[in-house]
Amino acid sequence: MVTAAPGEDRSPALALVNTRRLTAAGPVDDLATPDDAASWLSGRGLAVAGSAELGRLTDLRVAVRELLAALAEGRTPAEDAVEVVNAAARADAAAPQLVWDAGPERMWSPARPGSVEAAVAALARDAIEVVGGELGPLVRPCEAHGCVRYFLREHARRRWCSTTCGDRVRAARHQRLVVEQREGSR
Ligand SMILES: [Zn+2]
Repeated sequence: MVTAAPGEDRSPALALVNTRRLTAAGPVDDLATPDDAASWLSGRGLAVAGSAELGRLTDLRVAVRELLAALAEGRTPAEDAVEVVNAAARADAAAPQLVWDAGPERMWSPARPGSVEAAVAALARDAIEVVGGELGPLVRPCEAHGCVRYFLREHARRRWCSTTCGDRVRAARHQRLVVEQREGSR
């Protein structure tokens, strides 16, 4: 089981991007099959009837990754990435709803609950909220070599997506120091 990167709990779109990972054993894709995708979606409260249409999800994942990369690099994203996210957000005509239990809460009510369109639209809507909202400036790529995950930098000094990545970087730095000292003492 992988530890979620900081911010994945706040942004399903960020979590979507991080379903493609690199591990010591090689690349991992949490959305490798329609069944994987369906179970990932249901873990995010976006259950779909039957198995998920993979293409729509993986296309959205590519597009959102491009938006996060552009944001972190301070550049304009590829135009089609913006189009893919906007089209996905329009796939389901959700309406904002007010739920008042313990207090007021905003909810989005999908037009077709349980459809792939509703799930894809919810993820795209979140991507738009994150990229265009107050969380945008916090989006960072993990700085550990060989890691492709993104996270929200909620603490100013955080540079990696997980303690595993941080430990790996520190171990590599230590290794480099040992080698340098050895070579310096020759
Ligand atoms: Zn990492």
